Amino acid sequence: MCFFPVFLYSIDRKIPGPLTRQNSQKMEGFPASAGAAKGPDKGAVFMLKNEYLQRVYSQTVTRDPDQKEFHQAVLEFLESLDQIIGQHPEYEKKGIVETFVEPERVITFRVPWVDDKGNIRVNRGYRVQFNSAIGPYKGGLRFHPTVNLSILKFLGFEQILKNSLTTLPMGGAKGGSDFDPKGKSDEEVMRFCQSFMTELQRHIGQFVDVPAGDIGVGAREIGYLFGQYRRVRGTYAAGVLTGKGLSFGGSLVRTEATGYGLCYLTQEMLSKMKHDSFQGKTVVISGSGNVAIFACQKATELGGTVVALSDSNGYIHDPKGIDLDVVKDIKLGHRGRIKEYADRVPGSTYTEGFRGIWTIPCDIALPCATQNEIDGEIAGVIVKNGCLAVAEGANMPCRPEAIQAFQRAGVLFAPAKAANAGGVATSGLEMSQNSMRYAWTFEEVDRRLKDIMTNIFHNIYTAAEECGKPGDLVLGANIAGFMKVANTMLSQGLI
Ligand code: NDP
Repeated sequence: MCFFPVFLYSIDRKIPGPLTRQNSQKMEGFPASAGAAKGPDKGAVFMLKNEYLQRVYSQTVTRDPDQKEFHQAVLEFLESLDQIIGQHPEYEKKGIVETFVEPERVITFRVPWVDDKGNIRVNRGYRVQFNSAIGPYKGGLRFHPTVNLSILKFLGFEQILKNSLTTLPMGGAKGGSDFDPKGKSDEEVMRFCQSFMTELQRHIGQFVDVPAGDIGVGAREIGYLFGQYRRVRGTYAAGVLTGKGLSFGGSLVRTEATGYGLCYLTQEMLSKMKHDSFQGKTVVISGSGNVAIFACQKATELGGTVVALSDSNGYIHDPKGIDLDVVKDIKLGHRGRIKEYADRVPGSTYTEGFRGIWTIPCDIALPCATQNEIDGEIAGVIVKNGCLAVAEGANMPCRPEAIQAFQRAGVLFAPAKAANAGGVATSGLEMSQNSMRYAWTFEEVDRRLKDIMTNIFHNIYTAAEECGKPGDLVLGANIAGFMKVANTMLSQGLI
């Protein structure tokens, strides 16, 4: 009989080895008293039983020892794969998993531009073209000072699985820059976008790679990027970017899609797994950007009361329910700070430090700001406050120990690659409309989005059941997303 040793990994270790449980880092801005909950504030523990997967993970870490966010995403995925790899010897024989965790192409480039005072600035631009087995590369661009290769590789990697779950023909990619649009004038943002696209245009195209927005890249940036693409290439190829304005090939509902889709999937999860809904529930949403704003709108329409939102400085609490018109005026109207809300809406409060938002009791938690915003300690507080369901609007907002805490406590948990797939799904619908040179109505796109999100939920729910882990939607999403891409890679040969 063959016996494989069980390798245990704790998520921050650089190389595989014997288990050490680590305490989660103390999070800045999170009240010390909030950590009173016991149990989940320990480091996450992963066990890879399969020798092949152990080797793949070792190689991933050894090759790029500093890419912690990427290791985190790969390890969570490999742990799911561990459940089924024994039934698929062909994946090891054909080297599918080591190929899958290595990007097809990584492009880095400099982005020189001139600020309003005439100073020369140089940022770094990236595009990680991760996997194009099932369609052209597809994934957003992020402009934020924290952008680096580790973050873009984790995002591109998750994007492969997410795009596969939508059932639309899209490969996975991600890109962006360490440029910070915050505090820049429109002209500075335009000059930066033009310089960024002057290089990026060599690597993209409607049948090659189709970028979209992400943190720091909204309608304004996509407009400038598309304008420069058109100028440099001398062609009106609307299908090269998604998230465009309606007058130049954009799709209705694309702006709302990630937040709406998050709520559609959450509603289906509540209905199937708890015979429940948003109706009458208290909802906390972190962030106040594109995803958070439209999640707030849909959660409210579905009967929930959203009582808190945040930005990177702090959070607002409005027990009678957030007035979204005020938030839209602050965030979309003049790119202000969420703090203004408390000055304008009587009965609401503002608190410095964005992580404290999770001390507010809620039935449904929708983290929609950024990666790793909820650690084990914060998860303990959310659980202790009686939360029913957590669904990730942001990419990887929950650390592994937080996910384990939710799952142990029986809190429904929907992972980002399923829960926030509505954005890219609607980008896929935008690409279809661009190909047809036809625009669907708002209702038509919204209906298709709802169908896609409902189907994603049922596919991952069924996949988890078939793996013998009913209710484990992390496992279900990883396996359902992977199998389609892996089998396509097998069909196409070693490339
Ligand atoms: P936006 O730039 O519109 O908004 C981001 C929000 O999160 C802002 O409120 C921002 O606050 C806050 N935020 C950003 N970085 C941090 C940080 N390091 N710490 C605390 N708060 C932070 O981005 P989106 O709403 O588009 O994206 C939010 C998340 O959703 C990201 O994880 C993104 O990858 C994911 N996502 C987005 C999709 C989309 O269609 N837009 C699709 C799928 C996933 P501040 O203004 O102070 O920076």
